[in-house]
Amino acid sequence: MTEQYGDLRELYQEVIFDHNRHPRNFHAMTDANHTADGHNPLCGDQLTIYARIHNGIVEEASFVGHGCAISKASASLMTEAVKGKPISEVESLFHDMHVMLTESHPEGRDFGKLEVLSGVREFPARVKCATLAWHTLHNAIIQARDTARTE
Ligand code: ZN
Repeated sequence: MTEQYGDLRELYQEVIFDHNRHPRNFHAMTDANHTADGHNPLCGDQLTIYARIHNGIVEEASFVGHGCAISKASASLMTEAVKGKPISEVESLFHDMHVMLTESHPEGRDFGKLEVLSGVREFPARVKCATLAWHTLHNAIIQARDTARTE
């Protein structure tokens, strides 16, 4: 293992710690039109993902919940990454994330900040922690839940 790789891994860990301690978009969304709950019993991670989707574009994404550092950081990074993206692009990114976390880096895919989660590949037991937010967002996208109406 080269020194450079060690530095990179340290940087990746810092980003994960930062997103765990200060998760972005960490709130319930009152005007969400898609939402889903996710649970990873292996680790105890529990998330609710909210999305506001219009004309096939994920305009806003947020989450609440509790779990390990990887699951929270992954959800935080995901909500940042998918904002403003078409659903088709979000689903393709989810697919490539899964490949990156379980097999190898997909050719030609730039993950941006999501790359910090690539180290999880070395810890198969944590892959579900890293993909929970994505699975949950996928469920939210495909099954819009009717929002409760008061009238
Ligand atoms: Zn976990």
